[in-house]
Amino acid sequence: MTSSFSNLSLAEPLARAVAEMGYETMTPIQEQAIPVVLLGKDVMGAAQTGTGKTAAFALPLLQRMMKHENASTSPARHPVRALVLLPTRELAVQVAEQVELYAKYTNLRSTVVFGGMDMKPQTAELKKGVEVLVATPGRLLDHIEAKNTVLNQVEYVVLDEADRMLDIGFLPDLQRILSYLPKQRITLLFSATFSPEIKRLASSYLQDPVTIEVARSNATASTVEQHFYAVNADDKRRALHQILKARGIKQAFVFVNSKLGCARLARSLEREGLKTTALHGDKSQDERLKALDAFKKGEVDLLVCTDVAARGLDIKDVPAVFNFDVPFNAEDYVHRIGRTGRAGASGLAVSFAASSDQRLVADIEKLIKTKIELEPMEFEEDQPRKDQGRINDGRRMYRDSGDQAVRDAEDAPQGRPERAERPERRERREAPPQRQQASRDPFFDKPYESTLAADAQPAWEASAKGGAPRSSVSANIKPKKKVAALFKTGE
Ligand code: AMP
Repeated sequence: MTSSFSNLSLAEPLARAVAEMGYETMTPIQEQAIPVVLLGKDVMGAAQTGTGKTAAFALPLLQRMMKHENASTSPARHPVRALVLLPTRELAVQVAEQVELYAKYTNLRSTVVFGGMDMKPQTAELKKGVEVLVATPGRLLDHIEAKNTVLNQVEYVVLDEADRMLDIGFLPDLQRILSYLPKQRITLLFSATFSPEIKRLASSYLQDPVTIEVARSNATASTVEQHFYAVNADDKRRALHQILKARGIKQAFVFVNSKLGCARLARSLEREGLKTTALHGDKSQDERLKALDAFKKGEVDLLVCTDVAARGLDIKDVPAVFNFDVPFNAEDYVHRIGRTGRAGASGLAVSFAASSDQRLVADIEKLIKTKIELEPMEFEEDQPRKDQGRINDGRRMYRDSGDQAVRDAEDAPQGRPERAERPERRERREAPPQRQQASRDPFFDKPYESTLAADAQPAWEASAKGGAPRSSVSANIKPKKKVAALFKTGE
């Protein structure tokens, strides 16, 4: 079997875009799915975000749509031909961005619609005509009902992250949307697992699908260097500063367990001269997108986030992930460290474990089937300590109120974890990460070369002034319902 894109005979504009993305070889899901989709068969794929799944469906669909490509400005010449449904706005934006990149040298148009934003700009885009529509189910229904889009020429449907869509309670919305579509179509369903509900969804809406299963990207885990340091709550920020400097890390995700802790840690790090933004469930949609965008553009160095806010996000080339708090759920550890070392790049995952985290560390050990050696954190003498001093701009390193607040947040087991803004299915228990290294890494002894601009104004502070935080629950998110009961055909 070939694994090179050049052997696929993609149309020149698509091949050019792929080459520009720097892809050389296909990922396993791409190797398996692209030829099948090109043949026009339905697919039931078990693959998660991070495996190259988006290109696996987007490239062959764009290839098949090339016959409709035209430069006309008439909306009628650009009907929706492919509909991609995703459970969350972040995932929808991510997928839409990728589709746009793959289609950039074609005349095929794409757009994305999702809840929590004004409908008007989305409506304007829809009315211009788009061949590929990426959407979350609730908002798509709003647009269908407002007659902003017509779906009677849809030839392709992708139900992406289908298990999560069912978990969230989107089944009735999916059923309604699918009822608006032509029966003659190609349907692709991607899900992390093939639960009985997913199988039933597939048997209702897919015709004779080809089943494709790829293991969760082992490459991710095997390229991540993992360290666990024994650090008490008061020393965690100091440890973070030291490792960032010693490693010359330009950008990192910093995970905390609570929304409150997230906001406060971000503020503290900002005061300490790091360009930092916070991403948690209380941030408005606009703020979240701004935070992500700032991180992607390299305008901020640290994205301090909670699990709920970061789930499923694909930001490439994050060199490091810090578990400022050891996660309450061991599965979240695997998920968090999956943010680094993606698509073959190497990464670093550092966890700070206080003595009260023993049980949580043991849970992770059990899940990843790897003995975790807690390494002692050796602090450099010239690093400011909370009780010692000041940083070089003359400000006190920690303010009293914030200091207490951060300590509160760091009391992880007592602190309240962020409530899932949407019911979330837990990640599959597989792909144990590589054995973490117990010995001190020579990189830690490298001299510090600063890459941080201490005087930079944080983008997130400006955007956070915009208004009171909104509810973390999108109007589109329905309470979880018993999935089986929603299917008409009982088992
Ligand atoms: P996805 O699973 O679709 O979210 O993709 C995960 C990441 O892998 C994205 O950032 C893609 O740009 C990247 N990617 C997808 N396919 C390839 C490939 N064949 N080679 C290298 N990177 C890829």
